[in-house]
Amino acid sequence: MLKATRVSDPEVYSIVADELSRQEHNIEMIASESTAPLEVLELSGCIFTNKTTEGYPGARFQAGSQVADRIENLGIERAKKIFGAEHANLQVYSGSTANYSVYSAILNPGDTVLSMRLDQGGHLTHGSPVNFLSKVYNYIFYGVDPKTEQIDYDGVESIAAENKPKLIIAGGSSYPRLIDYERMSKIAKKADAYFMVDMAHIAGLVAAGVIPSPVPYADFVTSSTTKTFCGPRSGIVLCKAEHAKKLDKGVFPGAVGSIHLNTVAAKTFSLRYVATPEFRKIMEQVVINAKKLAEELTSYGFRIVSGGTDNHIVLVDLRPKGATGKIFQNALEKVGITVNKNMIPFDPESPFVTSGVRIGLTSISQRGLKEPEVIEIAAIMNQVAKAPENLANLEACKIKAEELIAKFPLYPVGSFED
Ligand SMILES: *Cc1c(COP(=O)(O)O)cnc(C)c1O
Repeated sequence: MLKATRVSDPEVYSIVADELSRQEHNIEMIASESTAPLEVLELSGCIFTNKTTEGYPGARFQAGSQVADRIENLGIERAKKIFGAEHANLQVYSGSTANYSVYSAILNPGDTVLSMRLDQGGHLTHGSPVNFLSKVYNYIFYGVDPKTEQIDYDGVESIAAENKPKLIIAGGSSYPRLIDYERMSKIAKKADAYFMVDMAHIAGLVAAGVIPSPVPYADFVTSSTTKTFCGPRSGIVLCKAEHAKKLDKGVFPGAVGSIHLNTVAAKTFSLRYVATPEFRKIMEQVVINAKKLAEELTSYGFRIVSGGTDNHIVLVDLRPKGATGKIFQNALEKVGITVNKNMIPFDPESPFVTSGVRIGLTSISQRGLKEPEVIEIAAIMNQVAKAPENLANLEACKIKAEELIAKFPLYPVGSFED
C-alpha cells in the first residue's frame, strides 16, 4: 500500500496505515459509510488526476481531452442504463455539489424551496440555516407525522398549495422508511413545482433494485456516490431529457470547476459494479440485517423510530434505556462499534446531545456479517446500554466486538501487501 509515500513521507504513511487498522478492527455502523472496492481506491488515485478538462465531451475548453471524453461518455452511458435515466451528469464532486448544481440550474435568488426538516431526517444542503444557501433561497420545511414518524404527505400537500414553492425535495439522511415518490411528484405537479429526490443515502439500494427508484417520478435525482452506493467520494445527478441542457449548465459553469476525472473513472467502475449479482446480494443482506437489528433492539426495550426500517438505517430512540445519543455513541466507540448520535423526530435534546443514534448496516453487510452476527451486535449494544459509563462493562463488550469482527476481513487478506 502507498509504496511511494511509505518511502518519501513515513509520517503521512503511518497515519493512513493507522486508519486502515482502525477500519479493519472496528464494527463500522455509521449509516453514511461503506467500503469502497479496491478498484475504486485504485481509480480514485489514477493518472486522470493530472488532466485538466472543463466543458462536456466533444466541446472542451482544453486540448488533449479525447481520452477524457471516452471515460466521461462511458460513465454517462452506464449511469443512464443502471438507473433508467434519460440524462446523467458525472461532473459534480459530491452529494452536496449535486444539490447545489440543481439549485444553480433552476432557481433564482429568493425562490421558495420546500424540503424535509433537518431534525426529522432532512439534510444540511436542503436549506439549513447554517448552510450559506439559506441566505440565497427561501427554504420552508415539511416533517413527519408525530404518530407514524413517517412523512406527513397531507402536510406536504397543504404547505405546497399555500406557498407555491419552485422546488420540492424528497430524501434525507436519517429517514429509515420508503418514500412515496409518486405521491410527492403529484403534489409537486399540482403546485407547479420541480420535484427533486436526493437519494444520497439509498443510491446503492436503488441501483441494485432492492428498493423502489425515484427516477421515473422526479425531474432531478441527486446523489452522493459513497454511502450505500459504495463508490468514490463523489456525486451524480440524473434528470429528465427536457432538463438536460439546464442541468449541464447548472453543473458547469454553474457550480463546479474542472472535472475530477479520477473520480469520474472510479464512478464509471462503480456504475458497472452496482449492476452485478454480487452487489445485489450485498444490498439485499443490508436490508435483511437492518430489519433484524431493529427487531432485536426492540426486544431489548429500545424504541425504533417509525417502528422499523425499509432500508439500511435503523434510527434508535434511547430514552427507554435512560441514555442519550451522546453517551451511547461515546460508549459504543470505546467498545469498537462506530455509530453516530442523531436527532429523532420531535427530539427534546439538543443536536449535540440528542435522544437517538443512527445505525447503518452497509459496511458490516459488505464484510459478510449476517443475521447471527447482527443478533450478537444487538446483544453487545444492550449490554453497553445497561452501564454505558462503567469501564469494566465496556472492556468486556470490547472483547466480544473484536472477536466478532476479526472473522470478517475488511478487504481480502493480503490486499495491501506488496
Ligand atoms: C450525505 C448527504 C449529502 C451530501 O453528500 P456528500 O457527498 O457528503 O457531499 C446530501 N444529501 C443527503 C440526503 C445526504 O445524506
